[in-house]
Amino acid sequence: MTTAFFSHPDCRRHDMGAGHPECPQRLDAIDDHLLATGLDIALERHDAPLVDLKDVELAHTHHYVAELKDLLEQIEASGERRALDPDTAACPGTWRAALRAAGAAVAATDAVLDGRAENAFCAVRPPGHHATRDEAMGFCFFNNVAVAARHALDVRGLKRVAVIDFDVHHGNGTEDILAGDERVLMVSFFQHPLYPYSGAVPKGTNMVNLPIPPYTRGGELRELIEANWLPALEAFRPEMIFISAGFDAHREDDLGQLGLVEADYEWITLRIKGVAERHARGRIVSCLEGGYNLSALARSVAAHLRVLTGV
Ligand SMILES: [Zn+2]
Repeated sequence: MTTAFFSHPDCRRHDMGAGHPECPQRLDAIDDHLLATGLDIALERHDAPLVDLKDVELAHTHHYVAELKDLLEQIEASGERRALDPDTAACPGTWRAALRAAGAAVAATDAVLDGRAENAFCAVRPPGHHATRDEAMGFCFFNNVAVAARHALDVRGLKRVAVIDFDVHHGNGTEDILAGDERVLMVSFFQHPLYPYSGAVPKGTNMVNLPIPPYTRGGELRELIEANWLPALEAFRPEMIFISAGFDAHREDDLGQLGLVEADYEWITLRIKGVAERHARGRIVSCLEGGYNLSALARSVAAHLRVLTGV
């Protein structure tokens, strides 16, 4: 069994402007490092398809999807970049990149559920976990992980899935979409207070939120994960696990002030893999979220993939 790796050149054509941390070079850094380490050989590469908007509407409102499509297609035709909010801009390449990013998550889900891959990683952008059911924000347009989780439940008929978010920022969009859906258990940690300043009070009983003070290091975080995430995941017995894999809690990342290192990402991934092997036949789909120090991002993704591939 293999680890599938979904990406697409279109994901590099979304460009929010010079100096924006969520930049196309993030995917180049990951690719270069996977080649340099030889980890590339352990991955089965796939081109991400364009998502079916019917799948997107399992997580977002019809109105939002229609409005975003109109806007991003206008921007595509105009050839110009436009700011949606102070952090988030759309350029002519954004629409297709967003379709590929969500398409990767759905295709990875199908590949894993059909037994064509044991697990999968989606090296995609734009990221997704800040996109709420009806709002683009925080560099995010479609909530790739929430779309894939709903696809697994509503289209593929699974009864229980877990969403695990280890980005340094609270996955407010994923919480907005999935809170109250008892078929889903979402566990996360995030620096608090930090953008988007939510999460301290969970929006649903199916949310395990761990707000973490700045300058917390990996050792303390591992204890919190042992005490809070793992018992909830074991009791829930997910049939599949989705990961919002952000690597901006790394100590070298300037967008947050947490102190994780590659070994912490390796440890977290190992614990997730253990839950997946006990309850979910090993089924994991992991999607890239944040991670803005290019070197730390590439090293952390490699640590994550070394565990997923088992090499
Ligand atoms: Zn983040």
